[in-house]
Amino acid sequence: MDILIKDLDYAVDLNLNLYRDIDILLRRGDKGEITIHRGRNLMEKFNLDRRDLKIIEGNRRCAIPGLSNNHTHIPMTLLRGIADDMILQDWLESRIWPNESKLTGEDVYYGALLGCLEMLRFGVTSFNDMYFFPEEIVKGAKEIGIKGAVGFPVIDFGTPQYKDLDKLLRACEEFIKRYLREEKIRPVVAPHAPYTCSRDTYVQCKEISQEYNVPLHTHLSETRYEVVEMENKIGRRPVEYLESIGVLGENLIAAHCVWVTKEEVKKLGRYRVKVVHCPGSNMKLASGGVMPLVEMLKEGVSLSLGTDGPASNNNLDILEEMKICALLHKAHRWDPRVGDVDTVLSMALNSKSIGFENRDVVLLDLKSPHLRPVHNIKSNIVYSANGNDVDTVIVDGEVLLENKRFSRIGDRDLERIYTKVDRVVKKFEVQ
Ligand SMILES: [Zn+2]
Repeated sequence: MDILIKDLDYAVDLNLNLYRDIDILLRRGDKGEITIHRGRNLMEKFNLDRRDLKIIEGNRRCAIPGLSNNHTHIPMTLLRGIADDMILQDWLESRIWPNESKLTGEDVYYGALLGCLEMLRFGVTSFNDMYFFPEEIVKGAKEIGIKGAVGFPVIDFGTPQYKDLDKLLRACEEFIKRYLREEKIRPVVAPHAPYTCSRDTYVQCKEISQEYNVPLHTHLSETRYEVVEMENKIGRRPVEYLESIGVLGENLIAAHCVWVTKEEVKKLGRYRVKVVHCPGSNMKLASGGVMPLVEMLKEGVSLSLGTDGPASNNNLDILEEMKICALLHKAHRWDPRVGDVDTVLSMALNSKSIGFENRDVVLLDLKSPHLRPVHNIKSNIVYSANGNDVDTVIVDGEVLLENKRFSRIGDRDLERIYTKVDRVVKKFEVQ
């Protein structure tokens, strides 16, 4: 059924054009594709009957395209708040890894359900993930209905599912083949990081990604420790190293890129690498460096935003991440013009980087004291709003959230998921 959103106060499109007092019509074509029309009197213009339309009230609301969370580890919702304010290595070794090793596929599925619900509630309509048991994440995302680039994690010392690297790489290829033709799922090859994957591993991952024409998703230059270790071991910095083994390219999605030189930024631009900025996680884990936003933009690097896992953020709220991003770069450069509203908004809407067209619509409820008055709606979106202001979410022409209620998941299902999650986390050791 086509959808008409009537009497919107404001709308912002993917090119950040601003509209006032407007209607939006979502029409489904013969091949299932969604076309978005903006204007007034659209029913008359397209000769549509009210009975053939789903009509949504847009009064006192603002429509924006779907938000995209381009680097995350969704099932880490299970580890949210288990340990904060710790040195990164200690945090990983004493709290995160020991507890993660206890997770089963079913546990990961419930973590994924919880995370996908959280993202949907916050207006995030597409994500790019990397975590063990990726088929469980596919299952969770399909149930909730949001779009996911799901990475099959590759790491030299194995995963809970595959201890042997050869078996793991074969399973990776099988995973890619199995999900190649899904509508809302994009399978991705996800070598973890240059310090946990050998040259050989990266090359094999690249071969799989090329053969099936799917993205590669990796962590890159997240910490100073990583850079020093690579320099000592290989004599190159991480970006230079990936260039030397032929991994830099248009299909590479690189998370973080915090500790990079100007030369490395130039390479990222030249090879058209997609960089995902995770300012909240970088600040919380005290990675020290700051992704060089100004230099990245100057070199034309494709930039987007990610929350990283909910254990280092601690939520999946891209509206909040926009504000963190804007503030971090102003403080870092002593320049309030850096990280401006349009720049961070376009980063948050960039689902193209992870392979999804953005035909999604998110409505923000403006009937809240913190969103009045409206001098500049884009300013309110970036600096005043948060995920809780999302009221309605339409993904690929399906209304998945309406008036802050999930359409596919009833209250009883929701309660069942929370109960299950509470049961799963009982096995964790919390010190
Ligand atoms: Zn990460």
